[in-house]
Amino acid sequence: MAKSNFEYVRDFEHETRCLPNTWIVVRIDGKGFHRFADLHDFVKPNDTRGLTLMARAAADVMFEFTDVIISFGHSDEFSFVFRKNTAVFNRRAEKLSSLVTSLFSSSYVFHWNDHFPDTKLRYPPAFDSRIVLYPTDENMKDYLSWRQADVHVNNLYNLSFWSLVLKGGLKPCEAELKLRGTLASDKNELLFQEFGINYNQEPPMFRKGTTLLRKSVDFLGKGKRTIVMPYYCDIIKKDFWDTHPELLKQ
Ligand code: ATP
Ligand code: ATP
Ligand code: MG
Ligand code: MG
Ligand code: MG
Ligand code: MG
Ligand code: MG
Repeated sequence: MAKSNFEYVRDFEHETRCLPNTWIVVRIDGKGFHRFADLHDFVKPNDTRGLTLMARAAADVMFEFTDVIISFGHSDEFSFVFRKNTAVFNRRAEKLSSLVTSLFSSSYVFHWNDHFPDTKLRYPPAFDSRIVLYPTDENMKDYLSWRQADVHVNNLYNLSFWSLVLKGGLKPCEAELKLRGTLASDKNELLFQEFGINYNQEPPMFRKGTTLLRKSVDFLGKGKRTIVMPYYCDIIKKDFWDTHPELLKQ
């Protein structure tokens, strides 16, 4: 086919390929979800409907991108780890991050009514995304540990904050002042002494975030099927990687 005089503009396009033999992580995060959660009456500090909807959208990403070996999320974020040698879209960074993000966003909206049957979606939510490459297994495991440690820190703070506000009758600024400079042990103590909450008995989904893994299971005696399974466990300790040795072999 004859080329048009306009074809040359293609030369302005630039594509970035992810370095070979490195773990590719795509992390998405909701834009302005503080307000989004308020507007849709999310339960504070943890709305289970919101968390399971995030996990549902993440599972759709894993169904579509079978090279994602593990994903981890909490609050309004999710991280997707592609196996080191994935050749999907020739490892083109923009393709990967834009497709993961748009599929996640549309799935979030697609499944909204299943999770929030009584709440009308007030506007189309958006998610940002970034790509990070990790050269060693250790770096990739530390990345996931970092995200899970963040869940712990945030959740302990948010639970303390909202207990002081909703049950203790403090104004938000007073609760913030009371928590300023406190250690994790102080917050545990405050939750227990003032509100009778044993932090370790809070739902694991709130404390540990959601980890999604691909597992092969026997399907009604008709052979193996691959499913995406949620786990609410510690992924920081070495034990997790010993229990799922296939993860690092891909
Ligand atoms: P940005 O656009 O910079 O990401 P943001 O408002 O989304 O801003 P985040 O730091 O991403 O800020 O925090 C997300 C916020 O969304 C939380 O602080 C919380 O208020 C709210 N949120 C998200 N998911 C839930 C949930 N399942 N239950 C309750 N609140 C939630
Ligand atoms: P890729 O994932 O590589 O983009 P694609 O199947 O989306 O693959 P495109 O080159 O983007 O391929 O072409 C989009 C195709 O979608 C069109 O060729 C056409 O078949 C179909 N299509 C999109 N919009 C319309 C429309 N409004 N009416 C009819 N067909 C449409
Ligand atoms: Mg942010
Ligand atoms: Mg956000
Ligand atoms: Mg966030
Ligand atoms: Mg195309
Ligand atoms: Mg197309």
